[in-house]
Amino acid sequence: MYQALYRVWRPKTFSDMVGQEAIVRTLRNQVNTGRIAHAYLFCGSRGTGKTSAARILTKAINCLRPRDGDPCGECESCKTIESGASFDVYEMDAASNSRVEEIRELLEKVDYPPQFGKYKVYIIDEVHMLSNAAFNALLKTLEEPPEYMVFILATTEPQKLPSTILSRCQRYDFGRYSEDQIAGHLSHVVTESGEEAEPEALNLIARAAEGGMRDALSILDMCMGGGQVITEEHVRAALGTADRAFLFSFADALARRDGGEALRLIERLMRGGRDVQVFLKDVSAHLRLLMAAMLCGPGEALPGAGGDNLRRYADQAKQFSQQRLLRVLDLSMRAEADTRWAASARSVLEVFALRACGQPDDRDYEALLERISELENRLHELEAHGVRVAAAPAEQAAPKKTAAPKPAPAADSPVPEGSKLPKDVWNDMLKLIKRTEPAIYGPLSQARYGGYQDGVYKALFAPGAEIFRNMLSSDKHRPKIEAALEQSGGAGAKFEAVSQVPQADPEAGKRQEQSMSSLIDMFGRDKVQIDD
Ligand SMILES: [Zn+2]
Repeated sequence: MYQALYRVWRPKTFSDMVGQEAIVRTLRNQVNTGRIAHAYLFCGSRGTGKTSAARILTKAINCLRPRDGDPCGECESCKTIESGASFDVYEMDAASNSRVEEIRELLEKVDYPPQFGKYKVYIIDEVHMLSNAAFNALLKTLEEPPEYMVFILATTEPQKLPSTILSRCQRYDFGRYSEDQIAGHLSHVVTESGEEAEPEALNLIARAAEGGMRDALSILDMCMGGGQVITEEHVRAALGTADRAFLFSFADALARRDGGEALRLIERLMRGGRDVQVFLKDVSAHLRLLMAAMLCGPGEALPGAGGDNLRRYADQAKQFSQQRLLRVLDLSMRAEADTRWAASARSVLEVFALRACGQPDDRDYEALLERISELENRLHELEAHGVRVAAAPAEQAAPKKTAAPKPAPAADSPVPEGSKLPKDVWNDMLKLIKRTEPAIYGPLSQARYGGYQDGVYKALFAPGAEIFRNMLSSDKHRPKIEAALEQSGGAGAKFEAVSQVPQADPEAGKRQEQSMSSLIDMFGRDKVQIDD
């Protein structure tokens, strides 16, 4: 059976891991000396090897015959853990189980010693998604863990973790892979798979994957097959207009005031079947990153921009004056809001591009200056916080927009009695796709179920995974997903891939939870009624 590449190539031992040498050396050494910590924190962006390292470490510390710190992969312990049948190892994704009951249930089992292995291991992925109450429950266990207990917490956003948790963990920062490391590994994978690829094609994939190995393998998967040599053209076709390079070209046309080129790019975009509103969102995000690069300088970390990209943003920002960049950003955010009401979203986009390339109209000048000083004030605030510039959603500056949809839980519209629940249809579709279209399954499995509304099933993609949102929206892949939905009981189902909107204030939810629990403390649970 054909398996998705990123599964086939998931490292099984520390020796298999690409890069992250310092981390691998330390962990290996701990296994060798038996000095295992009670809590590890693995930080790093998507696809940098956190979960793989967590699984390898889990096996290694329980392995009956470890080899130089690596799990043997053959003993009973290794095999049981590998098959997912071990009662001593729990893997939990906090993104979907962030409620306090679930973590409490897990923590209640801490008191039972491991049944088979030496250590009982809890791997909690995306741990920053836990609620405040769940963190408190976890903290209690971390304060006095039983001798056999090991926690491996993984997160893409360590800054969202309470300091009380951070201080109890041994922290490891997983760096993004360089383009060379990715291209090198892809080349190895291609050769081992008996296929051929042009080096430029692999470099292009490495660039699009932005430091994530899993993403790189998923893109490669979508370009492979057919027994042909993988060329740069194949990769471009697979990526379509989905990659960051397209945004750079578009912004470049705006910077040079080249309206003709901007319109040509829009034409390409429309032929690729891209959604205008989504594209305008991406453009605004891109312009905000340019602004951040302009204000912070190339030395600072930009959220959502990989190390190799940093220089590109700083370079492109130099093509704009600060005032011009503000104006174009302002225009793009207005256009984004206008697409909601306009009959032709494409016209809105084209008018935006031409305005952005032109000179400001004298009549609008007063209003513009006012708007600019308003935006400048806001940017000064942002500058003070540096990193928050890109994360700030457009809503703050575009009051016309309605509130961003909450990422979870997904609300489903009602279905006729007796028919299958949308979530079940979704899960069955995933199983089917996994069997029939493994290359699609790779990226699709990284999305979360985003709810069912009026015949449309939504997949939610986390920030950083936009490239797959766009690929799966293409006419090449979307119909296959819709067919699988139909086959799984969703008659006439449509599929839509959407980006998960980052929450305006990550603390807001926690604050709400805190004030809610103090209300309950004051008045008693039965007196407090919670309305949405
Ligand atoms: Zn073993």
